[in-house]
Amino acid sequence: MKYISTRGLATPKTFTEILLGGLAPDGGLYLPEEYPQVTRKELDEWRNLSYADLAFAVMSKFAPDIPAADLKAITDKTYTAEVYSNARADSDVSQIAPLLTLEPGLHILELSNGPTLAFKDMAMQLLGNLFEYALDKQHGELNILGATSGDTGSAAEYAMRGKHGIRVFMLSPHGKMSAFQTAQMYSLQDPNIFNIAVRGVFDDAQDLVKAVSNDHAFKSKYHIGTVNSINWGRISAQVVYYFKGYFAATESNGEQVAFSVPSGNFGNICAGHIARMMGLPIAQLILATNENDVLDEFFKTGIYRPRGTAQTFHTSSPSMDISKASNFERFVFDLVGRDSSKLREFWEQVDAGGAFDINDTPYWDALPSFGFVSGKSTHQDRLDTIRATWEKYGVMIDTHTADGLKVGIEQRRHGLPLICLETALPAKFEATIIEALGCEPERPVSMEGIESLPQRCEVMEVDVEALKAFIVANVPG
Ligand SMILES: *Cc1c(COP(=O)(O)O)cnc(C)c1O
Repeated sequence: MKYISTRGLATPKTFTEILLGGLAPDGGLYLPEEYPQVTRKELDEWRNLSYADLAFAVMSKFAPDIPAADLKAITDKTYTAEVYSNARADSDVSQIAPLLTLEPGLHILELSNGPTLAFKDMAMQLLGNLFEYALDKQHGELNILGATSGDTGSAAEYAMRGKHGIRVFMLSPHGKMSAFQTAQMYSLQDPNIFNIAVRGVFDDAQDLVKAVSNDHAFKSKYHIGTVNSINWGRISAQVVYYFKGYFAATESNGEQVAFSVPSGNFGNICAGHIARMMGLPIAQLILATNENDVLDEFFKTGIYRPRGTAQTFHTSSPSMDISKASNFERFVFDLVGRDSSKLREFWEQVDAGGAFDINDTPYWDALPSFGFVSGKSTHQDRLDTIRATWEKYGVMIDTHTADGLKVGIEQRRHGLPLICLETALPAKFEATIIEALGCEPERPVSMEGIESLPQRCEVMEVDVEALKAFIVANVPG
């Protein structure tokens, strides 16, 4: 199977060839030439598989160029119960991504029991092992450079720690993350992980990363790469848990379900779209945003109007605070019938700071056939949902999951089982939990006292040359 670019101007490539990269050379995003299909017979065979075996079955369809025995070893090593044991006390940790039933037909899929208490671990852990495998084969090395305000950076560090051939240089805004998030990242002592605390805000850190990435000579000499949310390996690994959630919430493969997904960059729900295109019986994909509602606006009005970073609200579900949704292009490619010249036309408008409008086009009429509906949630909604879920079911949920649950319940079609994806554990967002419930969230045992562990980080001014010098000093040869 080959991967093509949404913009239509790049040479088709294999899974392994696109694994370590980001954007296609034409500026587009990679997608399979055709979505692999899952037959009813396969669904029946997959229904009772363990998570690791299910991941192998799904990933085999996306990465046929990796020898089966190698891929099996990688999925087995990635999806073990020990790695996903940071669960709430009454969670079924014998399973990976267990389904928590609030009441008949209303479920939470626990995706946040990995090392950093967010669903990003589900895919990032696989990516770490795939990267190491690919780099070993080509005797290569990779220096991952990124900027984070929390979730992505820590998931990347925990996925890449101790991996040969890989170093991580992760920039974060000095003194701007919660004590818990800071401790999670800065307490890592692995010699291949470098935390850099920039004296500035997140955007300063992001600008530094861009400046280094735009120096092509430096970038290629020092093997600089990224692990951002457009990476195809991450999206494909996220497809797996839609199958897992479906099997857990249904009794037979004739049933339809709805998934509700707290969304930011459209990576998570894009994986749901792909699972549906493969033939998984998903009737509704419910997209939830917070106050940053660029995606809700599109599904309601047909207008995609990314905001500037200055118009991005800082909310209590911060991992969904985005101004534009980097993976959205993948869905729009399918929406326009994979017409890459149409897609280029839309993105020329977006890249120039504008918007596009699908009203009065056949795409608006086609939109309902993709199963998406959407809604938004506010800070007050989050507080209300966290409180109601705690009082009614005795289950504590985080702010992002609350956005998903609120919008999911509002938008679900009557009679469909609803599976809400849990994208983080409440322990990660203590302040809002205290505001909603007046008590501190439960912490997984392994995280107790994490703030008092010794921390290691390099404090730096907003200075490109200083950043480059730091990388040079820490990359041998
Ligand atoms: C990243 C993240 C999201 C948003 O996921 P996308 O794939 O960017 O749509 C939602 N919730 C949490 C907790 C996250 O870390």
